[in-house]
Order: sequence, then structure tokens, then C-alpha cells
Amino acid sequence: MTEFNPTRFDYLIVGAGFAGSVLAERLASELGARVLIVDKRPHIGGNAYDRYDDAGILIHPYGPHIFHTNSKDVFDYLSNFTEWRPYQHRVLASVDGQELPIPINLDTVNKLYGLNLTSFQVEEFFESVAEKVEQVRTSEDVVVSKVGRDLYNKFFRGYTRKQWGLDPSELDASVTARVPTRTNRDDRYFADTYQAMPLHGYTRMFEQMLSHPNIKVMLNTDYREIVDIIPFDHMIYTGPVDAFFDFKYGKLPYRSLEFVHETHAREHFQPVGTVNYPNDYGYTRISEFKYITGQEHKHTSVVYEYPRAEGDPYYPVPRPENAELYKQYEAEAKAREDVTFVGRLATYRYYNMDQVVAQALTTFNKLRARHEARVSQ
Ligand code: FAD
Ligand code: UDP
Repeated sequence: MTEFNPTRFDYLIVGAGFAGSVLAERLASELGARVLIVDKRPHIGGNAYDRYDDAGILIHPYGPHIFHTNSKDVFDYLSNFTEWRPYQHRVLASVDGQELPIPINLDTVNKLYGLNLTSFQVEEFFESVAEKVEQVRTSEDVVVSKVGRDLYNKFFRGYTRKQWGLDPSELDASVTARVPTRTNRDDRYFADTYQAMPLHGYTRMFEQMLSHPNIKVMLNTDYREIVDIIPFDHMIYTGPVDAFFDFKYGKLPYRSLEFVHETHAREHFQPVGTVNYPNDYGYTRISEFKYITGQEHKHTSVVYEYPRAEGDPYYPVPRPENAELYKQYEAEAKAREDVTFVGRLATYRYYNMDQVVAQALTTFNKLRARHEARVSQ
């Protein structure tokens, strides 16, 4: 960055998802850095990548991605690269032969039990069925302490066992705490201030982010193929942290999914963007893209998510023993002056897209401070 050297990159960024792409954009635009970003997949965008399928319908190959955030900074930052289409996601859970709103709300309880409670009465209902839990530690505690055992069994226990291959009692509270409980009729999946989809899709947004002349993109490339032959000053790594260190402390569990995509010759397949199946079938949920993207088309495409123990790493698994193991990798990572670890896989955090963007922007500020300190020396 200080002197132009055409034979050397300032940064090698591993992974072209949110973490890698935000940093590539910031480093190139703000610091004039020369950046090489590599991804082993044949496309940019990481798990948020979208594309048109054979029927011409915009799909998310790695499962439904709905953007939501309370951070004005994150929303404003991404707005530099895309326009938005307002979208509020709605989810139904298939329980006891009915499709009921999830997060559990007033209507869920009334429809499930054939009641006619008011908001005030449903609050009393929850209090009457809630189980006393001394300290809320696990994903079971979170739910039974709020809505009791029956709703827990019907909406959470089966889904969680399927999704994670673990009982909710074996997972940190943070997992099921992602899903609130409501006493009103609000049936939106998220309650964030900003809820919108990139108007022309995620991939177009990533293309805009990476369109800076200082950014070179190399796809179909595992960084290990080029790390010893392309000179660079600093690496930013957004892949799984255990793989980076050759699994020296053992494998960190990442939960995987198999995605089964289908196109149907009808306008709509289901009533809302996502239907969850907590108790039946091998899949957890079916999502229908046209609701999410707003696309109009006479056919419709959906994706089924089948949880898997093996396969591409999609979810860190939040539980105490994994946090312990991650700590060992984290200590190694922190000691590496030459590499910065960022993103959902590299920092082993169950982050949404906006949290990854926020983490990457914070990381950029640290890298900038380091850059400025070096320049002023
Ligand atoms: P990734 O997107 O995983 O990017 C990492 C990249 O690194 C990958 O492209 C990978 O190919 C590459 N890589 C790894 N190792 C190497 C290597 N050795 N060499 C080269 N490249 C490598 N978030 C939301 O906010 N809303 C949602 O609705 C939502 N839905 C989701 C649904 C599913 C099914 C999943 C799995 C996640 C969902 N998320 C959602 C989370 C979201 O996908 C992540 O927060 C975000 O994409 C993480 O970005 P990242 O850059 O950290 O990682
Ligand atoms: N969950 C559940 N039943 C549901 C929805 C969610 O048990 O109908 C639990 C499950 O453990 C899931 C977690 O809550 O993994 C978080 O749900 P979310 O929809 O946020 O998962 P993601 O979209 O990240 O896969």
C-alpha cells in the first residue's frame, strides 16, 4: 500500500462470502489496498449466493437467506451496493395436522388448543404452563421456562433434534432463544428495524462490492493451491478455523445440510415463505423463493433442508464442549500476526449475515489502524 508493487498483493482474502467481500471492498476502497480474494467454490457470495435456476426462478442454492438487522450502520453500508425490496418473512409450523404461526404467538395458542384467549389471558396461560428453571442454560430451559412442556415438545424438541442431531438440553440457550415467544398476533419471523431483500439478489450485490479495480477474484481455488506461489503481505481467512490449523486439536463440529431443490408447475406451493416440520419427515423446513424475492413467475421453486452430520460446514454447534475446543483454536488464531480470522466459520459463531457484516466492518477498523500506524512510522 505504501509503494506500488505489481508483483505483490497487500491482502490475500480466503472466502468470498460476506466476511471476505466486505473486507475486500473496504480495504480496496478506503486504503487503496491491492486485494486477491479466492474462493474454492465456483462463485462469489459464500452461502448467501443466489442464482436463477433452469426455470428462470431466483433461488438460494444454500438455503433461504432473509436479510434483517437492527444496525443502521450495517444497512447503510450494504445500501451502497444494492437497492432493496421490503420483505417481512412469515413462517408456519406444521403441528398436529395444522399449519400454525411460529414464533409462537396468540394465534398459535388459540388455534392449537381451540381457545379464544386475549393477549392478557395468553400471558397468564404461559405463566400457568411454564416450568420453573433455576438457571436458563440450555435450549430446553429457554423454551420450557417460557411456554411449558407441551408447546416445547410440539414446536421445538423434534425440530432441534433433527436440525442438530442433539437434544435441546445439549445445546446452549442461545440456539432456541433465536426464536421469541409473543403474546400478540405479530406473525413475522423477525422483528428487526430493517427487513429487506437486495432488489436484484445477493450475487448482484456482491458483484458491486467486488467491482473495484484493485480487487482480483479467483474462483475454484482452494487457498492452499496458491498460498505459496502468490506473494502477499497479510491473509484474511474466513473458512473453518479447525481446517486452517489442520485439525491439530481435533475436529470442531459444524452441522451440515443437504438441500433438495424442486420446481413445481404451479403459481405457489405453500402459503408462506417457509413451512417448518418439527415432527414429521427428514427435512426441517421447506422454503419457497418467490415469496422471499418477490419474483413473479407462473412456476415456483422450493428447497427442502435435510440436516446432515457430514458435508459442507454450515452451522457452528453452540454447546460448552465445542466452546472449549474452539478456545484452543482461538488462542492459536490470535497469536497469528500474519492472519486475521473473521466470519461465521473462522470465529465459530452462529452469526446471521448482518452480524458478519458488522464483525467485518469492526475488523476493517482494526486493520486500518494498523495500516495507519505503519504508514506513520
Ligand atoms: P460463508 O458465506 O460461509 O463464506 C465462507 C467462504 O469461504 C465460502 O464461500 C467457502 O467456499 C470459502 N472457503 C472456505 N474454505 C476455503 C478454502 N480453503 N479456500 C478457499 N475458499 C474457502 N443469515 C441471515 O442473516 N438470514 C438468513 O435468513 C440466513 N439463513 C441461513 C440459512 C442457512 C441454511 C445457512 C447455512 C445460513 C443462513 N444464514 C442466514 C447465515 C449466513 O449464511 C451467514 O451469516 C453468512 O453467509 C456468513 O458469511 P461468511 O462470509 O462468514 O461465511
Ligand atoms: N427451532 C425449533 N423449531 C422451529 C424453529 C426453530 O425448534 O420451528 C429451533 C431450532 O433449534 C433451530 C433454532 O430454533 O435450529 C434457530 O432457528 P432459526 O430459524 O433461527 O434457524 P436458522 O434459520 O439459523 O437455521
